Amino acid sequence: MKGPLDVVKPEVRAIAAYTLAARQSRIKINQNENPFEIEDRVKERVLAFARERPWGRYPDFDPQELLDALARFSGWRPDGVLAGNGSNELIEALLLCTVGAGTRVLIPEPTFTLYALLTKILGGDARRVALGPELEYDVDALLAAQDAAKPALTIVCSPNNPTGGALTTAEIERLCAATEGLVVIDEAYHEFSGRSAVPLLERHPNLVVLRTFSKAMGMAGLRVGYLLASPELVREINKARLPYNLNFFSQAAALAALEEWPALKANIDLLVRLRGTLMADLQKLPGVKVYPSEANFFLVELAEADPKAVFESIYRRGILIRDVTSYPRLSRCLRISVGSEEENRALATALQAALAETTAGSARRSS
Ligand code: PMP
Repeated sequence: MKGPLDVVKPEVRAIAAYTLAARQSRIKINQNENPFEIEDRVKERVLAFARERPWGRYPDFDPQELLDALARFSGWRPDGVLAGNGSNELIEALLLCTVGAGTRVLIPEPTFTLYALLTKILGGDARRVALGPELEYDVDALLAAQDAAKPALTIVCSPNNPTGGALTTAEIERLCAATEGLVVIDEAYHEFSGRSAVPLLERHPNLVVLRTFSKAMGMAGLRVGYLLASPELVREINKARLPYNLNFFSQAAALAALEEWPALKANIDLLVRLRGTLMADLQKLPGVKVYPSEANFFLVELAEADPKAVFESIYRRGILIRDVTSYPRLSRCLRISVGSEEENRALATALQAALAETTAGSARRSS
């Protein structure tokens, strides 16, 4: 060994970190967050609890009250629920328990990058399955890949980040029935699609569903996620969960958010309506293709304009969206999260101006 870095596993040295440039902006629609802030009265309730609760004492080892509430909320059994410090932590715990050297993990491409990143760190073999021609899920390709690779895990994000496409419940059931491995459905955005794989849990003990409070539930800053699976599987995955992973503040806030579900649901319904309006407005712009989405974001593909130049031009107008041009097949795409009505109007205006600016620039350069 020549130096400290030689101690780091070659699998880790070989990959790039999951990063996001820390840009600030007046309008921030780059991370699929909920633009509507949690009601003040809910915050007051949680803060009042936090003021009384001793800070020097550990949180609950098993946050039973929250697990029970999550079970009621999702329609699954309490002993089949795990809560985590964001769903990221539960993805990690799940992979820690299942992936070792050479373990085959089937992952569509493009999708959320964390699954392949952690698989590689753990020495696993991430097998990628292409999406269909319109960036939709190709369930036959997934089934064929399951048949060929016999993967230990098939991980599908539905609706998919960053494309917005989703699998139907029947398609998920086909994936579960076709493999002896686990089928992991990441439902980070399911509230915007109205679909869920949870009803399949009873019939398919190899199914794992992941969910988060970071998107529709409007609590990305407090880091709460949960995993639903058979009690036997949950008992195993729980062994890789760090002790006291969920702090008492986040536990209380998650409980409060669940009690506020009717108000949150109204916001979600509004975001779904706003998504429809914004997508229709952007689709009218020349040279812009909008991909269908069941999430609170969607892709736009630019026929002529340089997406990076458009991204920067929109940013100069005070709006931060997501540059996804480095993802496979998305070299002409940008990802836009649905914001408030006012934010969406500003985005539509900014995109139109950015297209005019960047296309005029390239026309000047080529003449
Ligand atoms: N899954 C998907 C598909 C996501 O897009 C994200 C957030 N970018 C996560 C999981 C992680 O969410 P959390 O904040 O719960 O860790």
